[in-house]
Amino acid sequence: MTKIQSVGIIGAGQMGNGIAHVFAIAGFDVIIHDIDEARIDAAIKLIDKNMNRQVSKDIITQADKEAAMARIIGTPSLDGLKDCDLVIEAATENAELKKKIFRDLCKVLKKDALIASNTSSISITALAAVTDRPDKFIGLHFMNPVPIMRLVEVIRGIATSRETFEIGKAMIEKLGKTMAMAEDFPAFIVNRILMPMINEAIYTLYEGVGTVTAIDTGMKLGTNHPMGPLELADFIGLDTCLSIMQVLYEGLSDSKYRPCPLLIKYVEAGWLGRKTGRGFYDYSGDVPVPTR
Ligand code: NAD
Repeated sequence: MTKIQSVGIIGAGQMGNGIAHVFAIAGFDVIIHDIDEARIDAAIKLIDKNMNRQVSKDIITQADKEAAMARIIGTPSLDGLKDCDLVIEAATENAELKKKIFRDLCKVLKKDALIASNTSSISITALAAVTDRPDKFIGLHFMNPVPIMRLVEVIRGIATSRETFEIGKAMIEKLGKTMAMAEDFPAFIVNRILMPMINEAIYTLYEGVGTVTAIDTGMKLGTNHPMGPLELADFIGLDTCLSIMQVLYEGLSDSKYRPCPLLIKYVEAGWLGRKTGRGFYDYSGDVPVPTR
C-alpha cells in the first residue's frame, strides 16, 4: 500500500490553510501551492497564528507547534508538488478550473501518488476522469474551520479503488477526524442538506419575511444552531455557496435548488462574505453589522 508522508495542497485559501495545518500537526510533510503567491505566505502566517492559539489553549505544546511549522513549505509552481505521495486540491469551487489544475498536475506528479479533491459539491467521478489515475482519486471533504471541525466526508468516484479508499480512511484516522461516507451525487450529504437551508434563508431575506438579524437570531435561538444561516453563508463564502447551489440545480434538475437571485447579486457585487469583508454582514468594524 502506498505510504503517505508528503502531502501537497493546491489552493491556500481558508480551506487549504486549515488542511495544511492539521496534516502538519499529524506529522506529515506539507507543501502548499497557490496560483497567487501572496496567498501562500498569508496562509503560512495564518497557520502560525492559529497554532499559537492552540498552544495558548493547551491543545498542542510549543514544541508540537514548532515541529509542525517546520514541516510546512510553500511552492509557487505545481512542479514543486511532483514528489508528493498525496495531493489535495482545495482551489476555488469551479469544475473547469479544477479540471485544468488536475490535467496540469498529472503532467508532473509521480505516477503512484494519490489525488484528492476537497470539493463541496462537484462530481468526483468527473474530476477523476480528466486525470491519468481515476483509481487513485478520491473526494476528501474537510469542514470549515478544519482544525476544529471533526468530520471529513469521504466520496468514492466510480473508479476509486478499494486501496485508495483504505489509505484515505487510515489518513483521516491519523488526523483524529471522523469519517462519513457519501455516494458521488451533487453536493454529497452535508451540503445537500445544509445549502438548500442557507439558500432558503436568503429567500426569506429577499422576500422580506425577516431581516438579517431576525433570520439569524431565529435559527440560533429557535433551533439551537451555533451560527445563523446568513452568518454561516458569509463564513463559508457566498461564491462557494452559489457554486454549490448551481451544482445541485443543474445536477439534480430540480427547481427546488434554484439559487436565490439575491445570492447571485451579492456574488456579482463581489460581496463574498467574511473573506472580502462584506456579505450579509459588514466586517469592517469590531462587531459585524447587518448589511440589510
Ligand atoms: P478560498 O476562496 O478561500 O480559496 C481558494 C484558493 O484557491 C485561493 O487562494 C485561490 O487563489 C486559489 N486558486 C484559484 N485558482 C487556482 C489555481 N488554478 N491553482 C492554484 N490555486 C488556485 O476558497 P475555500 O473556501 O478555501 O474553498 C476551497 C475549496 O474548498 C472549494 O472547492 C470549496 O468548495 C471547498 N470547501 C469550502 C468550504 C468552506 O466553508 N469555505 C468547506 C468545505 C470545502
